[in-house]
Amino acid sequence: MKKLIFERGMRLILSILLCVIFISGNLSAQNSQLTKENIEAAVNEAYNKYKDVKEGANADYIKELANVDPNIFGIALVTTDGQVYTMGDIESMVSIQSVSKVFTMAKVIEELGYEAVEDKIGVDATGEVFNSITAVERMRGKEINPLVNPGAIASTSLINGSDSAAKWASILQVHSDFAGRNLSLNMPVYISEAGDNLRNQAIAHLLLAYGRMYFDPVQATDIYTKQCAINVNAKDAGIMAATLANGGVNPITNKVVVSPETVMYTLPVMSTAGLYDDSGIWLYHTGVPAKSGVGGCLIAVVPGKFGIAVISPPLDKAGNSVKGQLAIEYIIDQLNVDPYLIQPSK
Ligand code: GLN
Repeated sequence: MKKLIFERGMRLILSILLCVIFISGNLSAQNSQLTKENIEAAVNEAYNKYKDVKEGANADYIKELANVDPNIFGIALVTTDGQVYTMGDIESMVSIQSVSKVFTMAKVIEELGYEAVEDKIGVDATGEVFNSITAVERMRGKEINPLVNPGAIASTSLINGSDSAAKWASILQVHSDFAGRNLSLNMPVYISEAGDNLRNQAIAHLLLAYGRMYFDPVQATDIYTKQCAINVNAKDAGIMAATLANGGVNPITNKVVVSPETVMYTLPVMSTAGLYDDSGIWLYHTGVPAKSGVGGCLIAVVPGKFGIAVISPPLDKAGNSVKGQLAIEYIIDQLNVDPYLIQPSK
């Protein structure tokens, strides 16, 4: 009898022990991906693997962008606990372009609430190119999206501030807070685009006609053009992405830039519309919210873990940085951080 109880006891202890070993093995398999060594290796490999890629071309519909050095290639990965991993050119500054749409959208949510963005702009993806006029016309100004031009100009028009200067100061400040340092304007890019932005002006006026523009359309387009010309390097953009990954707190300065709820409503729009009409393909490959700009900047957010940015000006047909997509996709794959990669519980 005693022997039987002893044997059963031993068997129970053995199975508990096996369970513990199995669970901790599984956990460490998941966590081991984000060690310093693994991150460094992934970032370095991505850089070396793609540094000689020659595909794509600088945007040239904004004349000054055609003059940017196409060989700029920098990667910055910033973890939510403030570690910075970089590779390549992280000094060269490029205009942030459409990546700015994320931060202005977040500021509008912060000031007016997530319902305002949904009701006054719309959050569904248009599925069309970023400067589509037909998308506005088709929806009669409804369901435009803050991460493509029409919705972004509408977002700019919604920013608190009694005049154009106050709105611009607020937008520049929030970008600086996300980056953790004072950012400034790329004057040649701003002048170049401001002299040539009739299409965006047309979009703003069409929105006004549909009652979906909330400030003077000429001035709103001008502020929008300025926000697109804010200068960033890869490290700035990496920290901006990491601030989103960290629920709105800048992991370097520890400043609360926006609330976790604001981030919660910003990231899904990045997932569905961050890479314009190629957003679905991007999400299929990486599973993470991202945003690109025609200056060659691409940011991606791995919620709770890290933000990453690449600057490389040559773009594909959809307007997304070729090397940016390759490098970030590679790093996310190497680190096994696609949020849809689920380790079964048994
Ligand atoms: N300033 C650019 C424009 O309005 C931004 C476009 C982009 O980066 N996709 O055309």
